[in-house]
Amino acid sequence: MCGVLGILGEYSLRGARDLLLLLAHRGQDASGLLWVEDRQVTTSRSMGSPARIIVPDKVSQFILGSTRYPTTGRRVTSEEDLETFVGPFHRGRVSLTHNGNVTNVKVLSSKRYDCDTEFLAERLSNNINSNDGSLQKAFKDLESEIDGAFSVVGVLDDKLFAYRDSRGFKPLVFGRSGDTTIVASESTVLDMAGVPMERDVYPGELLIFDTGGVMESYSILQNALHTHCFFEYVYFAHPAATIENQLVYDVRFRLGRALGQTFIRMNLDPPDYIVPVPDTSRPAAQAMAEMLQVPIREIILKNRYLGRTFILRSQEERDSMASNKYIYLDGKIKGKNILVVDDSIVRGTTARKIVADLKKRGAEKVYFAVTCPPQTHACYYGIDIATDRELIASTSSIQEIADFVQADALIYQETSTLENAIGIKDLCLACLDGKYPTEHARKIRDKVQELGTTHNERDYERELSE
Ligand code: 5GP
Ligand code: MG
Repeated sequence: MCGVLGILGEYSLRGARDLLLLLAHRGQDASGLLWVEDRQVTTSRSMGSPARIIVPDKVSQFILGSTRYPTTGRRVTSEEDLETFVGPFHRGRVSLTHNGNVTNVKVLSSKRYDCDTEFLAERLSNNINSNDGSLQKAFKDLESEIDGAFSVVGVLDDKLFAYRDSRGFKPLVFGRSGDTTIVASESTVLDMAGVPMERDVYPGELLIFDTGGVMESYSILQNALHTHCFFEYVYFAHPAATIENQLVYDVRFRLGRALGQTFIRMNLDPPDYIVPVPDTSRPAAQAMAEMLQVPIREIILKNRYLGRTFILRSQEERDSMASNKYIYLDGKIKGKNILVVDDSIVRGTTARKIVADLKKRGAEKVYFAVTCPPQTHACYYGIDIATDRELIASTSSIQEIADFVQADALIYQETSTLENAIGIKDLCLACLDGKYPTEHARKIRDKVQELGTTHNERDYERELSE
């Protein structure tokens, strides 16, 4: 899971880097910029935040950007890794950046790739050559061979293009103003650039923009089944982003309202405060506070300067990270009933730690509300949700999870209220119900069931900023 950016029009490279920073929450492992001048391609990459990418003080006609969030691959650990782990990539006539996860790279190629964006760039470049330079045919071929999620932005010769896979797993939006065209994972990038958002790229749609301001749209593959990733709304995207015409903030607010209703039905002692776990759950906490008429207090604050993240392989490491991540307003906790709101429970480490920390500081009761329903299945489409067996909800009942995190009550979102809050039905809910919408992912699933859940570990990047 990553953030992607594509710009056509004389745009400053430093300005592009600033825009890429708006996608840093989608991946802080590493990031890269690529620019094309007179068909000369230059790339600059950096570990960590896009702020660290070194670019000259000049403008370029074509710019691509990526922020990387490792899912199936390992994390970037050294400068040497950058070349093969981080896009954008240039192969043949094509430059490409990509958000998503291709599930069948290993089936299609015997070459080992550190990043499936490189695989996609190579494949697309080959498909262009074998189709007499036709980008439309190249994408048609790509759709027939690739399984998984791919929102891509690229440059071919003197055109910028964008494509969103026919199921629309990952977001991709674009806008134009004067000579400038911008394609990005999230609409906030367009807002900051002062380019009005035109719309989402439709699933299965190829857009080609030329330097004369002309846009061509081709329908590459019509898929009756769109499966937008619901976790974008719950956790991943910025609250100010609009995806499929839904403002992420509003969705999170509605998720909180639904949790508020559930809380009322549970007839528990009223809380003194609603406390969000920063930052993702803030809108939900606001909604719950309004609904329950209980004040919201930001008693849990985030340690923003925790430094670079790293792979947390052992439970001790995860526990110690959870201890350093939050700071508490000590004086406001003693004797209070506190309703904590977080976006999701993955392993349960964070929830358990927060409940223990609040009780240690004298909280009377701690209720824990979660805006995401129990996640029971691993994601193969680019959200790094561990393996099944690492997901506490895959093996434990809600009561067992409540016991594990030591909460006086655990309030989970229902799938139906989640769908209502998002306001669209065409969602990928595979991590909740195990119904993987693509064929190869289902094959992986069958293998997992056959072999047990001891298949490859997925590195879970815990310390993304939200
Ligand atoms: P747990 O401690 O239960 O394993 O993880 C739950 C916490 O992880 C929640 O606070 C949630 O906001 C966060 N989280 C959920 N998904 C992701 C992700 O994909 N990456 C990172 N870094 N954090 C996540
Ligand atoms: Mg969190």
